[in-house]
Amino acid sequence: MSSKFETVFRTYSYRLYPTKMQQLELKALFDLQDHAFNDWADLANRGVAQGKSYETIQNEIESHEIITERREDRYALSVTRSHVLTLARHLCDHQIKRIRFRLPDRQQRSFTYKTVGISEHYLVIPSIGTIAMRDYRPFPDHAELRYAKILVDCYGAEYRVDLVLAVLLPIAEEQPVHYEKVVGLDYTQNGLYVTNTGENAGYPGYRRIAQEQLRRYHRAAERFHTGSNRWRKHKQRAAKLERHIVHQRRNWQYQQAHKLCKEHDAICVETLDFAGMKQANPSLSPKLNDNACAAFFRKLEQILHQNGKKLIRVDAQFPSSQICSCCGAYLGKQPLGKEYITCPHCGVTIRRDHNAARNIRDKGFRRLE
Ligand SMILES: [Zn+2]
Repeated sequence: MSSKFETVFRTYSYRLYPTKMQQLELKALFDLQDHAFNDWADLANRGVAQGKSYETIQNEIESHEIITERREDRYALSVTRSHVLTLARHLCDHQIKRIRFRLPDRQQRSFTYKTVGISEHYLVIPSIGTIAMRDYRPFPDHAELRYAKILVDCYGAEYRVDLVLAVLLPIAEEQPVHYEKVVGLDYTQNGLYVTNTGENAGYPGYRRIAQEQLRRYHRAAERFHTGSNRWRKHKQRAAKLERHIVHQRRNWQYQQAHKLCKEHDAICVETLDFAGMKQANPSLSPKLNDNACAAFFRKLEQILHQNGKKLIRVDAQFPSSQICSCCGAYLGKQPLGKEYITCPHCGVTIRRDHNAARNIRDKGFRRLE
């Protein structure tokens, strides 16, 4: 048993049932946070358009105060401000074109509190009071509340609180690594990844499956006045399906990650620039978003870490698809459409992604030694 501890963050989520009056008060808070976001985002957008440096924009944003009378709102504003500053940094680095404003009718709105009171059936928020809460489960030992985020799903009018806890956990002991139990994963658009034994993970693509239904809901909503009851009804259905897709994907990813962790000592993956891929070829975006590969790798890393195992990230510069995994000969750039590659040196014919996964596994394993 190791004696070292580390801090990990856990989110505990509960449904909230605010009264009509409390809903109005919460709406004012969401408005405040959105208003602050838009003000600062506007400063950043204009600053970049005028060719100002990041430091200048940062100064402008930091000196532009949003007036609020209540002290407890300041934490939410500071969170928003640092969020805008991160986006402004991306903007200056040309990773994004502009910061998009938050519209009041967007699907999810939130407000962040530093401290809240919590009991079995209630959440106590400063200035709003006691809100009914459901699905309470006690916090783990050695947990400390970092912040609380009140969220609303605007169409569904579903309220929730996410309590983010810092939990002290013992660090898992490092596990020995055997070569035959190291696996390499190569990202693929169809099915998420292929392993070095040539198996496809077979991710079903939940969003793609639900796409037609989602489109139907949105088209049905378009027939009515925006904001009307019947418009809302169809938007609520779409929102519910969206949430369902997110849950399905998360569930699938966790199951898959636990399975991989159980069967292997270490996992090697390629660090891909998904944002760059989307920018270079927007037609890839729907599948890239549905696969949510970066989120999968994060879950995988977390689960492996908890078990004393490692996720090894191989640099994207490594030409995993240009080397023969049998003899190590350099084959040069392969056209994207080609499914199989044949090595002129050793004569092996192998699936392109299977070959890449084998290379990633070997490269990652060499990094371990
Ligand atoms: Zn070869």
